[in-house]
Amino acid sequence: MILANYINGVLQPPVAKVYLDNFCPATGEVYGKIPASTAADIDLAVAAAKEAFPKWSTMPAAKRSAILMKISEGINAQRDVLAEAESKDNGKPLWLAQKVDIPRARDNFAFYATAILHDTSETHDMGSAGFNYTLRKPIGVAACISPWNLPLYLFTWKIAPALASGNTVVAKPSEVTPATAYLLSQICIDAGLPPGVLNIVHGTGPDTGAALIGHPDVPVISFTGGTATGAAIAREAAPMFKKLSLELGGKNPNIIFADCDFDDMLQTTVQSSFANQGQICLCGSRIFVERPIYEKFKTAFVERVKQLKVGHPTAPDTKVGALVSQPHMEKVLSYVALAKAEGGTVLCGGEQIYPEGFENGYYVSPAVIEGLSFDCRTNQEEIFGPVVTITPFDTEEEVLAMANSTKYGLAATIWTENLKKAHRVAAAIDSGIIWINCWLVRDLRTPFGGMKQSGVGREGGFEALHFFTEAKNICVKL
Ligand code: NAD
Repeated sequence: MILANYINGVLQPPVAKVYLDNFCPATGEVYGKIPASTAADIDLAVAAAKEAFPKWSTMPAAKRSAILMKISEGINAQRDVLAEAESKDNGKPLWLAQKVDIPRARDNFAFYATAILHDTSETHDMGSAGFNYTLRKPIGVAACISPWNLPLYLFTWKIAPALASGNTVVAKPSEVTPATAYLLSQICIDAGLPPGVLNIVHGTGPDTGAALIGHPDVPVISFTGGTATGAAIAREAAPMFKKLSLELGGKNPNIIFADCDFDDMLQTTVQSSFANQGQICLCGSRIFVERPIYEKFKTAFVERVKQLKVGHPTAPDTKVGALVSQPHMEKVLSYVALAKAEGGTVLCGGEQIYPEGFENGYYVSPAVIEGLSFDCRTNQEEIFGPVVTITPFDTEEEVLAMANSTKYGLAATIWTENLKKAHRVAAAIDSGIIWINCWLVRDLRTPFGGMKQSGVGREGGFEALHFFTEAKNICVKL
């Protein structure tokens, strides 16, 4: 498959006609070509978006909403094709793409298409003196840049609110997983999205992404990816006074108290550790277990993890598919080696495996590691793969100090049947998202994002709609 950019309503090759290889993680084979777009392509896309802005931004919300709903319906109609493309491009189990990634992409569009029908502006009554009202105006051309772990899911999570609130968009998916963003282009054409309203440009971060970030006609940027990339983008964007939303890395604690519902906790903890091969920014990679149940947990957890079938993404019984790329697999394996060097004991997994017929794919067995200090590199740095550590604790104070010890603050999970303790600990953890007795239960209305070096700003609900607008207050004297 040779991918094309979607610029001004038309699928087209990159100006320089240069392409990158697209790898299938399950087999290690090159199966397609991705435009290696340059500043010339970004210039075309931004110019198209700028031209489309006046008409799109003043279109009645109901009309904009109807077009975005058609895109949602188009995703739904193509869900099997999209799920297969996502699984092939990313290495994730096909059933996961069918069950989670593609339905969520559909819902992202439907959610924001309908949200704008219910959004209201505020008035601030000053009694007989007068009143204020606030207009929320779309900003202009928005840049949306997304990572490879939940490709279409996160791509649409940015594009949908940006478009719904009246902005036009230039979007760049990850060059590691561009396939479903490319397929979305045709869905937008078929839905009747006016030319230039959404432009999708493929290519690498340093070339295509950086040209987009630095473009003078792009005043607002929504980025999801690694913390180091987020810092580089912030450095570039700050002197140009661009509005920035950054969703970055995590090293999330999963805190298990002895009074939890053990079976429920165990089942969910297997998922929160290894879903999507551990490549979800919300995975609980540091598991803290209260000492009275530490040994019981360790035995039961390792037994369950050993049963997870690692294999080709299309096999229905596969629980852990392929990691996204060879460099990423090597990074994950290097962290297992680091954990051993830091004195950790690998209780299971952590090895490259070679399923029959797919020996060149990027497969790693899920790893559980114990015996590490909370402040070693393995427990402080984001691995973003199928690797978790388990650590016992004795007191609430101790586990809070360990949980809050990293530079990240994205998500946390707390397991206890004691409500007072659950709320007390939730309030004391430095994370933007806390789950009590569950994990990754999502309500699209809630604020989503991280504290500390996990990000700046929030996505989700009206937070995202408001991010893509300028609030303008108008004061009226009576
Ligand atoms: P990455 O930072 O390498 O790349 C993300 C995107 O940024 C890609 O599209 C890439 O091409 C682009 N990019 C890279 N350098 C750029 C530059 N200089 N200018 C502009 N764009 C640039 O991240 P990744 O490896 O694709 O994804 C993994 C990371 O994403 C992990 O750290 C993970 O925690 C994070 N993540 C965070 C969330 C969240 O909601 N907080 C969600 C998913 C993933």
